[in-house]
Amino acid sequence: VTVGDVVRSTLDELPPEERAVVAGVSIRAKAFPDDEDLARGCYPDQQAAFWGVGRELGRQGATALPHPGPAAGEITLFLANLAPLTAVRLRVALLHELGHALGLEEAEIRARGLYLEGETACC
Ligand SMILES: [Zn+2]
Repeated sequence: VTVGDVVRSTLDELPPEERAVVAGVSIRAKAFPDDEDLARGCYPDQQAAFWGVGRELGRQGATALPHPGPAAGEITLFLANLAPLTAVRLRVALLHELGHALGLEEAEIRARGLYLEGETACC
């Protein structure tokens, strides 16, 4: 099973509506956060990150205005920081970042169990 296989199968799990929202988000992988990632707020031991504009769900109490458009940006998976790299860990890390792209807040994502033990906060 390759990283690409896990990314594809994880995207395939999403309901069609959610998949459409994140269709414009590019998904990349590298070993560790590089200088550019660190400059935009990543931790050296961070496992994954989403940069971009997530869909704003427009919930009551949300500070941002509702944004009905699709998410845009990129998700990067830091493979060395996800060690031991397994399909399960990769899937959870990707679903966590897809949650941000879908407009969910950190607490909501964690409430769904989409986090890894020892994970540092997202940037
Ligand atoms: Zn997060």
